[in-house]
Amino acid sequence: MTAATDITPATEPTPLCEPCQGIQRNWRGAPGHAELRQGNNRKELHGRSEVTITGYFCDRCGAHWHYTNDKRNQRAGWSLAPD
Ligand SMILES: [Zn+2]
Repeated sequence: MTAATDITPATEPTPLCEPCQGIQRNWRGAPGHAELRQGNNRKELHGRSEVTITGYFCDRCGAHWHYTNDKRNQRAGWSLAPD
């Protein structure tokens, strides 16, 4: 009997820790959490305005976040880094 119960990871390869799950994404001014460590930041042009994107790493689950600071976009904010 070979039960094919291989557990293949579904959508999220690294599960987020609870504080990361609690981060409100894509909302300007939403807070991060205490275990995020700030990394590099860079500037990008979005249309005609320059925005600053700051990288953060979670000490608990290792998630890599970007925080986009765009004064003109209420929907800019936290997002998981694409890598
Ligand atoms: Zn985390």
